[in-house]
Amino acid sequence: MISRHLDAMGRVVIPQEMRYKLNITHNTLLDITLKGSKIIITKSGESCAVCGKTGDILEGAEVCMDCARNIAERLAQK
Ligand SMILES: [Zn+2]
Repeated sequence: MISRHLDAMGRVVIPQEMRYKLNITHNTLLDITLKGSKIIITKSGESCAVCGKTGDILEGAEVCMDCARNIAERLAQK
């Protein structure tokens, strides 16, 4: 985790190593979602491999939080 201060305009710089890892360049469109008390930023156009929903994609996976929760519940039942 990296902590950054917002500037006076409400902007924050996404750390270079994170941008590089996710192939985010100066022109990449990002989706910003409010989930409870968290602000989630995802590359626009990324969608869940299960349901196709865009945004709210679990970091490091290709599924949305809802599908990840469903999968985890199903695995817990077995
Ligand atoms: Zn999904």
